[in-house]
Amino acid sequence: MSNVKLPEIPEKIAQFVDRAERDCLEAFARVEAVERANTRKIIRAFQQERVSGRHFAPTTGYGYDDIGRDALSNLFCHAMGTESALVRPQIASGTHALALCLYGVLRPGDILLSAAGKPYDTMEEVIGLSGEAGQGSLREFGIGYRQVDLLEDGSVDLEGVLRAMTPEVKLVLLQRSRGYDWRPSLSVREIDRVIAAIHEKSAEVCVMVDNCYGEFTDLREPQADLLAGSLIKNPGGGIAPTGGYIAGKKRFVDKVAFRLTSPGIGAEVGSYAGGYQPFYQGLFLAPHTVAQAVKSAILAARAFELAGFQVHPNFDSPRGDIIQAIRFEDPEKLIAFCQAIQACSPVDAEALPLPWDMPGYQHQVIMAAGTFVAGASIELSADAPIRPPYIAYLQGALTYAHGRMALEGALTTLAQKGMLSL
Ligand SMILES: *Cc1c(COP(=O)(O)O)cnc(C)c1O
Repeated sequence: MSNVKLPEIPEKIAQFVDRAERDCLEAFARVEAVERANTRKIIRAFQQERVSGRHFAPTTGYGYDDIGRDALSNLFCHAMGTESALVRPQIASGTHALALCLYGVLRPGDILLSAAGKPYDTMEEVIGLSGEAGQGSLREFGIGYRQVDLLEDGSVDLEGVLRAMTPEVKLVLLQRSRGYDWRPSLSVREIDRVIAAIHEKSAEVCVMVDNCYGEFTDLREPQADLLAGSLIKNPGGGIAPTGGYIAGKKRFVDKVAFRLTSPGIGAEVGSYAGGYQPFYQGLFLAPHTVAQAVKSAILAARAFELAGFQVHPNFDSPRGDIIQAIRFEDPEKLIAFCQAIQACSPVDAEALPLPWDMPGYQHQVIMAAGTFVAGASIELSADAPIRPPYIAYLQGALTYAHGRMALEGALTTLAQKGMLSL
């Protein structure tokens, strides 16, 4: 018996996807223009920092004067348009990067205000909205929480946010990406408009953007006091093996560095015996990899829309993240879709993803990710909390060819199971 899981694609499905692809060409051209501009920005940054082979070397111990570590942080300043940055393999995930910012800036008695509705699922336990007591959530440290929901059309309720900004509010959190929600991503323009209005009311408050999945989807990044994200998503380009980043105003990034290591030490220590080359190469590739992922998302949006499903965003809508939501309305279809994506992977194609109780999430989650870097969602992956209306969140693809192939594979599998007819 063959080990190959990739289904043969019937001519009818290939033609259907050809047609969807033709509809996407204008949207693709816009994505490629962003890719070119961001590639130029990154190469300028590398030249500015005079990057050479010596920056890639492994380091050990305290890592005093680790030039690979420090130049990498400088590159992120250029890429993110910020005065300071902290980029580390030791930041274990996006949640860790976000939590470092909150613990670094907030103090007992302060209030965290979430201005874009409910934050990403894993932040609930950090804030103390759910989870077991005794883990040291913000709430246990006497840090309060307030939330202003997005308006009906998915935009920020700016009046509501300004009204909620009492003097104890010391940090305002904005999530750029849709996360696991049926809502639009926030555009850089809108985020910057909100930040400007918040700062007009209080110059002191720290406005932080959860930038996960948003990096390099636009010509520039939000002008926040703090930006945070994961290196196994967009800015790692599919090459970085682990890590996270924080970028922003120096006075805030310094506070986060003191939380990352310890007071008095901050960003001065930290080595990496694995060597920094994949982080540099990943940042160089990131604008391209993100473009591949966004084009794959656009094609999936068009194809599933033509197949009669609701999708968010539409193929020709502006995008501020790499995520494509597809609404299946049925747990069986949702699970079959995720399993089909897995079956089209280069790695772990034989694994059959099933719903499970993932730490940090409140519902069972199914995750398809046949990835080179374990769990990297800049690589083609599909996640879904098992709750109505059974929405799959598709993201990533290191190459558009793979994104398209997996889409064809998923459509084929669903058609064979009688779950869709074209
Ligand atoms: C992925 C993600 C996170 C959390 O990152 P992890 O690396 O999974 O911990 C937070 N916010 C958003 C919007 C994300 O997409």
